Amino acid sequence: MEIPYHINEILNRLEEAGYRAYIVGGCVRDSLMGLVPHDYDITTSALPEDTERVFADCRIIETGIKHGTVTVLYKGIGVEITTFRVDGEYTDSRRPDSVTFTDRIEEDLSRRDFTINGIAYNPEKGLTDPFGGQQDISAGVIRCIGDPERRFSEDSLRILRALRFSSVLGFVIENNTAAAIREHKADLDNVSRERVFSELTRLLCGKDVRRVMMEFPEVFAQILPPLKAMIGYEQCSKYHNSDLYEHTARAVEAAPAEPAMRLAMLFHDMGKPACKSVGEDGQFHFYGHAEESVKIADGLLRELKSSNELRERIREIVRYHDIPVETSPKYIRRALSKHGIERFRDIMYSHMADDSAKADFVLPRIETARRALELAEEIAAQKPCLTLKSLAISGRDLLEFLPPSRQIGEILSTLLGEVVEEKLPNEKTALLKRARELAAANSQ
Ligand code: ATP
Ligand code: MG
Repeated sequence: MEIPYHINEILNRLEEAGYRAYIVGGCVRDSLMGLVPHDYDITTSALPEDTERVFADCRIIETGIKHGTVTVLYKGIGVEITTFRVDGEYTDSRRPDSVTFTDRIEEDLSRRDFTINGIAYNPEKGLTDPFGGQQDISAGVIRCIGDPERRFSEDSLRILRALRFSSVLGFVIENNTAAAIREHKADLDNVSRERVFSELTRLLCGKDVRRVMMEFPEVFAQILPPLKAMIGYEQCSKYHNSDLYEHTARAVEAAPAEPAMRLAMLFHDMGKPACKSVGEDGQFHFYGHAEESVKIADGLLRELKSSNELRERIREIVRYHDIPVETSPKYIRRALSKHGIERFRDIMYSHMADDSAKADFVLPRIETARRALELAEEIAAQKPCLTLKSLAISGRDLLEFLPPSRQIGEILSTLLGEVVEEKLPNEKTALLKRARELAAANSQ
């Protein structure tokens, strides 16, 4: 196994000082899978104060010291080094009441969540894998270390970690582990919303999110209650060939693997049950559901402590996920003026994802959204005047012949509308002439 030079040096230093040291957890798992680890965690027999002594020439950050972790800034790179430890009793299904250091690597590995995360590696000693992690990696299995019931009751976040690894790595969850997840789902209410949000977001961006959503609908409904009514909800609409929850799972997976898009698709139809009406032909309609979904999404994102920026972006995608799409330059210019290219891009992606999760006859609409987006990219690249800011005149110019009043703003927005529709060139003389006409017409 290849490990970075500076990590090797850290292991060597600890060993030369008489301690044992390994890389452990996610980095070993990822390396065995042929993926590039995003960081390296080190576990060692050295106590935190020993580690600090060994790296006395480096800057040390003590934030995790209560749990035996010191961060060493080694040659400018922060590396977490944690003493072998076992976790004490859990009374709050969140974090251990205490941790105890141990001298045995196997004990440290036994406190970890899944077999695939319970492997340590040292260049001289090779792999330490007491729970069959390598076998589970080869077979693509997520399995708790020890008794799943106990492991999930200790720490409920592990439920979402299991689903996240299943979605991101494309692994199946072993039966006993899956049964314990279902058994303990209600404990997720005790996990901080920030941690739920962080795991949920990563889970949604995984390649197998649809399968995981279909296997554990009740877990998703536990963290996002509006999903509950959507499970098995028949849409009685010619546009749809799956229930509302399955449609949602399909739309999530069809969206670009990026938090805002995947979250937006998770929320896009949550307003449907509240907006149902039945047509004369017995078909269901859901007028106004996009706006209702925006409200629900907003509430959930606030609870989950999303950033305002992400929440605003998702609100806009959900609000417009259902608008009629055209491919005429006039439509595109108007849409760009209203949304800007970045949000319009999001909105078109939401259309493609949504339509690809509907009945077959809807599929050609994906092509319409794709063409609209293509055209929008071309038009946006020419940097046309589509906002008041880029209009060749401003309110100041109008004040030369008009008193300050609301009329100024109204005239400017009429001018912008005409420029956007290419009825008027974005040139000062033409704009002023048209502004005078509008002012005269107004005063009559
Ligand atoms: P990634 O970094 O991609 O999220 P990871 O497996 O490295 O994956 P971390 O949160 O960085 O996840 O945790 C590092 C290691 O610590 C894990 O591999 C696992 O061995 C252990 N671990 C993390 N969280 C838990 C938990 N809630 N319960 C038990 N062990 C855990
Ligand atoms: Mg990690």
